[in-house]
Amino acid sequence: MRTLSRRLSWVALAGALAVIACDRDKDAAPSQNTSVSASVPGGEPLKFPPDEGPPVAVDGDRAMQYVKDIVKFGPRPLGSANHKKVEEYISSHLKGDQVEDDTFTADTPEGKFPVHNIIAKYPGTKDGIIIVASHYDTNYPLRKTSYVGANDGASSSGLLLELANHLRGKQRDGYSVWLVWDDAEEAMKPDGSGGQPNELPFTEDSLYGITHLAEKWQADGTLKKAKAFILTDMIGDADLNVERETNSTAWLKEVVYEAAKRLGYQSHFFGRELEVSDDHIPFVKRGVPSVDLIDFTYGYNLAYWHTTEDTIDKLNPRSLQIVGSVVLETVRILDKMDPLPPK
Ligand SMILES: [Zn+2]
Repeated sequence: MRTLSRRLSWVALAGALAVIACDRDKDAAPSQNTSVSASVPGGEPLKFPPDEGPPVAVDGDRAMQYVKDIVKFGPRPLGSANHKKVEEYISSHLKGDQVEDDTFTADTPEGKFPVHNIIAKYPGTKDGIIIVASHYDTNYPLRKTSYVGANDGASSSGLLLELANHLRGKQRDGYSVWLVWDDAEEAMKPDGSGGQPNELPFTEDSLYGITHLAEKWQADGTLKKAKAFILTDMIGDADLNVERETNSTAWLKEVVYEAAKRLGYQSHFFGRELEVSDDHIPFVKRGVPSVDLIDFTYGYNLAYWHTTEDTIDKLNPRSLQIVGSVVLETVRILDKMDPLPPK
């Protein structure tokens, strides 16, 4: 991912530290409330459905094994043999599922490249779709280094394979859930931290795969059925602090926070407000309620982000389990919120 506003992040961090310092009830017991409301700025108060008890048991260790497998292929930049192997690895875990392959050629500042989005669809009884996404490519400018993007790309892609295990083989009593492993999220040119600064605006040199999908789904009418777009990115950090991302839809962030509270994981969520430019942007622009679940504190002064330090030892299965559980709980709440707030 890339950030729009690094300066904001450090200004906000001071406030976040104050919040964290007060928030000692880490992993508290799940909320017993049967009906909770939260207000959304400029909107009606949100009404949440009753808490239906035990959450789905997302297996953090199994998710971590998928992440390790993806990382073991090595760097997986666009156009590489490793990239192809990871595509095949993901698809091999979706055998028997309803899978859509979205393949096209992207014209980038580094030339033309094949781009391959993989979508697994799990049908529900309700009319509408909830999309859960993760990019799986690694940063192209770092392709000649040992950079493997354990957290940036692999963590969320492994988690989605684990989520597939919970969605597979049953008729959902709710919206259809589509898992999206999207491609070519990363910029092709360096983005300022090393080498030549990228002269292109971020929207013109990144988010290639997800932008193509958003355009395609807008053209064929799919987007009208999209109730929510939930993005996961960099969610494996052992020190998990998911941002309250400012491009994300306000009411959907409240649903995520309610889900986190119900599971007792709220201390890992929204301690800091931060603007991030990521795969949710093409959906935000097209009016789909969207949320970016990203932890953009990764090593001191972001030392592990887009560096060869982004390795598996920085991750913890528990972080995958926490984010996976909150995603599925968010879906469960959305299934029962009728009607959903206006877009
Ligand atoms: Zn990245």
